[in-house]
Amino acid sequence: MDEILQRGADGERITAGEATRLFTDAPLADLMAAADAVVTGAVGSERTYNVNAHLNPTNICVVGCGFCAFAVWTEKDERAYAYSVDQLIDRAGQLAEQGITELHIVGGMTKEYDLAYYEELFAGLKAELPGVFLTALTAVEIDFIARLSKVSSREALERTRAAGHDTMPGGGAEVFSPRVRKIIADRKVPAETWLEVHREAHDLGMRTNATLLFGHFETTEEKIDHMAQLRDLQDESGGFQAFIPLPFLPGNTDFAYLPGPSREEKLRTIAVSRLFLDNFPHIKGHWVMHGEDVTVEALKGGFDDLSGTLTEERIAHATTVETPLGLSNGRIRGLIEQAGCVPVERETLYAKVERGEVAA
Ligand code: SF4
Repeated sequence: MDEILQRGADGERITAGEATRLFTDAPLADLMAAADAVVTGAVGSERTYNVNAHLNPTNICVVGCGFCAFAVWTEKDERAYAYSVDQLIDRAGQLAEQGITELHIVGGMTKEYDLAYYEELFAGLKAELPGVFLTALTAVEIDFIARLSKVSSREALERTRAAGHDTMPGGGAEVFSPRVRKIIADRKVPAETWLEVHREAHDLGMRTNATLLFGHFETTEEKIDHMAQLRDLQDESGGFQAFIPLPFLPGNTDFAYLPGPSREEKLRTIAVSRLFLDNFPHIKGHWVMHGEDVTVEALKGGFDDLSGTLTEERIAHATTVETPLGLSNGRIRGLIEQAGCVPVERETLYAKVERGEVAA
């Protein structure tokens, strides 16, 4: 065990079998210390974050994943909403006044929200806010709008890119295991499609992220296999920026009877991902789902980056999380300082941002 941990801490490659062993049997403190050694070796005590906001154009979605508390099936549902391009551009203008450097744009999938809609939205946002990065459309959404508009996913990406689409978020990956996908997201595209869209994006020069939704029905082996498929693609393309482990939040979902992952499972997943994904530059903490306490612990156990101030985050907040709706710039810096680290603001492509206090 010590020898595997040492190799991981030194940034050497460990096998899927070894990662499974670490997850199951390594003492938590040793696991976190090894993961922290990787981070500290790369960036010292600096931990990055960005100032961003979410725009979710609609919550109407025909995919209907059982784990999702955000989406509704139909516009007849009293919780349904659907914004026009103009409404979103207006709202983005207000958010930009708060100092954001990135808009994170994902939402439900329904036929009105097609390729032409997103081309118009991105072009409008870039015209109004040329300095703000657009991190938008998961691989699942790209595949959906491509099929709606009867073009290939590669052509959809070329067109959204031409309109101003900068990078892709990592959502929709869930767990690649077909067995688990059948339980939690049986109408969502398979792993092969998700990976292929990211491969195409990387080939076009886009940077993307990758997620893992853990803590429901998956086994440890399935968790590690998910990471192994990501590591293989990263070896091939090099286009991933960050891996984002997302703990399942059962509240208001079809699986509300599950407990959700424990603190220990969260910390083990984060630490093992840092040790196993030796070719991913960043392990990003989506603090809104982990909670502030686990986030602070994990900033010394694998996280080198936080997912931003997240103004107007709606997806995790559709469950029963207790984290606030957006953290101020000061408070997110405070979380990093609480972990004994140095906060550094970055933009979407990880260049440092120098400025004073911002309102977001
Ligand atoms: S997770 Fe995404 S694809 Fe699934 S129902 Fe929710 S919004 Fe739709």
